[in-house]
Amino acid sequence: LPCTVRDLSEAAGIPAMQIQRVLMQEGVMARINDSMDEDLTEFVAAELGLEVNFAQAVTLEDELLASIRDAEDPEDQLQPRPPVITFLGHVDHGKTSLLDRLIGINVVSGESGGITQHIRAYQIEKDGAGISFVDTPGHEAFTEMRARGANVTDIAVLVVAADDGVMPQTEEAISHAKAADVPIVVALNKIDIPGIDPMKAMADLSANGLQPSEWGGDIEVVKTSAITGEGMDDLLETLLTVADLNEYRANPNRNALGTSLESQQESGHGVVAKVIVQNGTLRVGDVVVCGDAYGRVRAMFDTLNPELAIEEAGPSTPVNLLGFNTAPAAGEHFYVLDDIAKARELAESREDQARRDSLGSTGPVHVTLENLFDRLGHSEEVQTLNLILRADVRGSIEAIQKELTKLDHPEVKLKSLLSTVGGVTEGDVQLAAASDAVILAFNVVPDEKARSLADKLGVQIRRYDVIYKITDDLKLALEGMLKPEE
Ligand code: GDP
Repeated sequence: LPCTVRDLSEAAGIPAMQIQRVLMQEGVMARINDSMDEDLTEFVAAELGLEVNFAQAVTLEDELLASIRDAEDPEDQLQPRPPVITFLGHVDHGKTSLLDRLIGINVVSGESGGITQHIRAYQIEKDGAGISFVDTPGHEAFTEMRARGANVTDIAVLVVAADDGVMPQTEEAISHAKAADVPIVVALNKIDIPGIDPMKAMADLSANGLQPSEWGGDIEVVKTSAITGEGMDDLLETLLTVADLNEYRANPNRNALGTSLESQQESGHGVVAKVIVQNGTLRVGDVVVCGDAYGRVRAMFDTLNPELAIEEAGPSTPVNLLGFNTAPAAGEHFYVLDDIAKARELAESREDQARRDSLGSTGPVHVTLENLFDRLGHSEEVQTLNLILRADVRGSIEAIQKELTKLDHPEVKLKSLLSTVGGVTEGDVQLAAASDAVILAFNVVPDEKARSLADKLGVQIRRYDVIYKITDDLKLALEGMLKPEE
């Protein structure tokens, strides 16, 4: 666990200068944001007459929560759980309308400009089987959640308007769903529009690597209309079939764990958190911890019918939960613990940690070509280096991809998450952060927003203008010989 000069100074309440002086006596020139390893920190602390147990809180927390998260469920306890579905697609292709139609409400017409503002999460029933929907406004939210390690989605429904076909955001959505490694079902929407030819959209899909099953591929394409209701049953049945094939299961007989989707302070209610249970059963009265928030579940309400109080919520069930002391961040995991004192301790240690993180600079948190080798050193297995490629023209992409296939390494596989023409966007950076990828920009530049987001998230964007330089760098990176960029 790295500890910076500043961390120690703040934790101990002594001036950083004093720490730097001790380091200097040891021949170490340290700036305020430089990290010290555990031995050095302990040495400095001893010199200054301090006692350190800086790693303890975090380790305790990580260990305890990991043991809950990773606890194997006995085979005989596992039961089928409803699939969790997310709609992705180009703006205005009908994501909101389709979900409204499926759950039988109308949000589109009621909302300002029809823009989905918040995450919506509902569970419905079809022929006795549950299906849950988590609707994120745009795939940014979907990817941001993944970046926090919250993989709530089992199946992505790619909504494509039949009159428009595959658009830029559809392409992005496809790469996001692929990076998340979830099955894709296509809703070919607006099929009611007179005179449209669904063949064009089908050909678009096929060109993007989604071969429709009626053309011999493995992607189910369901023709839908959110206006007439055509194809709704078909869509639900397809989703249940995909779910059956994938055998999503969970153990309802354990303490619940899941993810917070969003939360807010509501006057008169306190904190209302929308959470989805991913394993176990959540009950009123349970002690929960979620990042720096904790509490006892005071009440739970149905998300479709906010007046309806619920006593318990099983796997894949979204609920509005009352009882947290403060609003947990979206995408944060929650856990049920047996002991409220422990929950408070964990939440408080997390809060301290967050404060510390926001103080020191944490450096690159994601893979870079320079740290690739060190990262790989930790494992024997074949590893994947995820790449996102942006280039000026189609021809460059093809040429680079051809070169990349020539790079053959026994332990590292290169995987291209997205290769498209155009400058690096914020969406690319989010995708890279969620999937731990390096962005290669060939003859293009990141826009200002993308650049600052990359800095913030610790994502590497490497710019090139000669193709062989890319493969040279990758070769060096794989050997651990790449020098940091000037
Ligand atoms: P989103 O941005 O993907 O969530 O799209 P919306 O659900 O907000 O829909 C955008 C517009 O398309 C709205 O005016 C809808 O009424 C319209 N729309 C959505 N689905 C259909 C459909 O199946 N047929 C037709 N004709 N219009 C639709």
